[in-house]
Amino acid sequence: KEDLDVLIIGAGPIGIACALECKKQNLSYLVLEKGALTNSLFNYPLNMTFFSTSEKLEIDGIPFISNNPKPTRNEALEYYRRVTTSNNLNINLYEAVLNIDKTDFGFSVTSDKANYKTKKVIIATGFYDIPNPLNVPGEELPKVFHYYKEAHPFTLQDIAVVGASNSSVDAALEIYRKGGRVTMIIRGDAIGERVKYWVKPDILNRIEEGSIKAYFNSQIKTITPHDIIIDTPDGEKTLANDYVIALTGYQPNFKFLKAAGIEFSKDEKHIPKYNSETMESNIEGLYLAGVICGGMETHKWFIENSRIHAKLIVDHIVNKAPIGAKS
Ligand code: FAD
Repeated sequence: KEDLDVLIIGAGPIGIACALECKKQNLSYLVLEKGALTNSLFNYPLNMTFFSTSEKLEIDGIPFISNNPKPTRNEALEYYRRVTTSNNLNINLYEAVLNIDKTDFGFSVTSDKANYKTKKVIIATGFYDIPNPLNVPGEELPKVFHYYKEAHPFTLQDIAVVGASNSSVDAALEIYRKGGRVTMIIRGDAIGERVKYWVKPDILNRIEEGSIKAYFNSQIKTITPHDIIIDTPDGEKTLANDYVIALTGYQPNFKFLKAAGIEFSKDEKHIPKYNSETMESNIEGLYLAGVICGGMETHKWFIENSRIHAKLIVDHIVNKAPIGAKS
């Protein structure tokens, strides 16, 4: 295969932004994406609404027209799809990167389909592929989900929603409105502080009136086929249960990053090392872009504030670490 200037891993919004930037600078580039285009967004709940207004999700200044102040998942899929196809971006879908090896000329990148030689690599793999586990007995049962798609299967069922962030609150409200019997199991003493300000009164009022039950300062201890056992401030309780929807967050693929040689902060945040002006990691020529930069702090970066990474990286590649210069 012909040598590349830049290989981008991940076709999320930020990987696509990097591809647009490479194209503008006439670099030879390729994006490898293990799933569908914008695979994370594709896996979001069907009726999900972004917390950002549409102009804040735009990349490369290409207008994102939405009918509502806050765009929906479908509108975002439409936007990133059109940006990709109308710019003829070089993206291979359904091709997962397995390995990144540093070499004399730059990097050798191995996917499940081919091997590529490239001068620079941008990792924009996000965090949505690996859910944080509950680590309780019964978690492996088929009635336990770490992703939520839509409410219909849960009508007339006893549902436990674990967590109190945006995802949990959206799922709890939607399932309740489609006739599911919802109980929220919440580790802290309140609904998450980052819950969308226009959704918060709705969940608080449903909890107060008792149409959605909520156990605060509580955790699931065991999941059985027909029950859950939870620890609450008033002691252990057994609740009838058909499905558990555990939306307890996700984490980047640390194993993949470590294998590439990336170093991390030693604390529990596990933040990868990079130069915040250039986004270059501790490995010369290997850059990090998008939400992956937050390590375990997955709320720190989002599309709004990380789309800038594309320009920082490509500027550095073109101007300060020119292609052709020995790396
Ligand atoms: P991702 O979109 O996660 O893209 C990473 C891509 O890399 C994926 O397509 C994945 O399949 C691919 N990949 C992973 N590993 C490999 C591999 N080994 N080989 C090849 N490909 C690989 N942000 C906002 O700004 N506003 C919002 O309103 C907002 N709402 C959100 C709502 C939810 C429910 C969630 C979960 C997130 C939300 N975010 C929001 C955050 C935002 O969607 C994500 O931050 C965004 O998807 C990040 O873009 P990214 O390109 O960094 O990563």
